[in-house]
Parts: sequence; C-alpha cells; structure tokens
Amino acid sequence: MGNSQCEFCGRSYTKKRQWQKFCSRTCRIEFHQSGGEEVLRLRRENKALRERMKTITEIASQ
Ligand SMILES: [Zn+2]
Repeated sequence: MGNSQCEFCGRSYTKKRQWQKFCSRTCRIEFHQSGGEEVLRLRRENKALRERMKTITEIASQ
C-alpha cells in the first residue's frame, strides 16, 4: 500500500489498508474523541488563516 501520513499525529507510516488514515489504533481513537473531521477542517482553516496573516504582516513591514 505504501507510505502515508497519519491524519492525527502527522507521522508517516506504512499503510496496510486502503482506507487506513492513522498510524495506530490509538491515533484513530484519539482522533474521534477529539472531534474527528470537524477538527481537521478547523485545523486546515486555521492554517490558511495564519498564512494569510503572515503575508499581511510581511507586506505591512516592507
Ligand atoms: Zn498517528
């Protein structure tokens, strides 16, 4: 199946199943306990927002 990145901790692992998203059972459980897909979505939006803020700061300091 090849290498993949754990959606919870970000570590790379060897994928054993097509649908596998996490490096371990612990990560899968923690992921669902922490809010699942919703948390991922918020995290992605947060990152985009931070990057936008960074660009604005850079422009402002020029
Ligand atoms: Zn993991």
